Amino acid sequence: MAGRISCAFVLAVVAATNLWASLTENVILVVIDGARYTETYGDDSHANIRHIWNDLRLQGTIFTRFYNNGKTETNPGHCSIVTGTWQDVNNDGGERPDRPTVFEYMRRELGSAVSECYVVLGKGKLDILTHSTHRDYGSQYAASVRTASDSYSDTQAWANLENVLAGEHPRLAILNLPATDRLGHLGNWNGYLDAIRAADSRIYELWNDLQADPFYSGKTALIVTNDHGRHTNEWQNHGCDCEGCRHIMLLTIGPDFAPGQVDSTERSLIDLAPTVGQLLGFDTPLAAGSPLQLQIPVAAGPLAPAMACSAGPDVVVRTVAGGARFLVTSPARQPLSLWVYGIDGALVYEACQTTQSGSGHVFFWDASRAASSSAAGRYVWAMRVFEKPLNTGAFTLAR
Ligand SMILES: [Zn+2]
Ligand SMILES: [Zn+2]
Repeated sequence: MAGRISCAFVLAVVAATNLWASLTENVILVVIDGARYTETYGDDSHANIRHIWNDLRLQGTIFTRFYNNGKTETNPGHCSIVTGTWQDVNNDGGERPDRPTVFEYMRRELGSAVSECYVVLGKGKLDILTHSTHRDYGSQYAASVRTASDSYSDTQAWANLENVLAGEHPRLAILNLPATDRLGHLGNWNGYLDAIRAADSRIYELWNDLQADPFYSGKTALIVTNDHGRHTNEWQNHGCDCEGCRHIMLLTIGPDFAPGQVDSTERSLIDLAPTVGQLLGFDTPLAAGSPLQLQIPVAAGPLAPAMACSAGPDVVVRTVAGGARFLVTSPARQPLSLWVYGIDGALVYEACQTTQSGSGHVFFWDASRAASSSAAGRYVWAMRVFEKPLNTGAFTLAR
């Protein structure tokens, strides 16, 4: 009889590979420009990010040691987000990144239309995010851009985003919310805090709006971060490598991110582009970062993580000579998907069965047809009913 194993084990195995299909079809990146960590997650009252802390955090993963380890200025920070490399561009908008952006990777590999990729502003000088100067990519794979007449207004940037999402339905967009940084530079402490609070409300509204739009609902990742913080001992400015300038927030929500998780591993801005690539199914070969950990596919939408492993289909696994038989003992009137992974995380079998009448579903994995020389060993399986939670387990094939 197969023993039930923990989800964490399956996640660890699967996260080591890129072998599962992401449930995420769209990614929206939101950058609150220049919010310091001590006014976001690092403030124990969380008074400036009430919605992110009280509502969105429980549906997503927050990262408490997330950094800009490059130049802590606006254009370099944003270029590092979209390229996955530390970009030493100047900060006046006169220089494009020299490595490809996620928009170029996506359009070149997936053949996506220009309207599927959007840079929404915010600061007009960030229009350099649409494409790089890299000779194999560049303007032919550029994103669309929606600039703002007022470069420092979140209201204008927000209106741009709403218009773009409703009108164009991009699959990948980045929004810059500039007001927080602007009010910091102006030396307006209360205005700076108010701008973070307004951004927090808008981000919560955005998440709810996405769930209300069938194009985005349940299949969209929202990634919220900052391009840089502000000096530790002087909040008006930024740009050095002090803790205050480098330490920033990250929130990830979507069907492929674990809900209610706190990730305290050290990560940085250059990990976002590879994560976006993994979510949307394209490679980011020139990116230097590595993807954030994703979870094995489970039902889209708000999830109770403790239930994800117990509410799936009931399955009895019987190993036989040269293979394993999976008997689904609970009635299933919807398609079932089964994945079997080796202990090294390699996917060795996947199958899907549509609705059947009668005695139910039986899957058989014929291990003798596997490519490896010996099928003996430990395996992990995962089964999912369409749009229902996952069930997992492990079994051993004898030699
Ligand atoms: Zn900035
Ligand atoms: Zn500093």
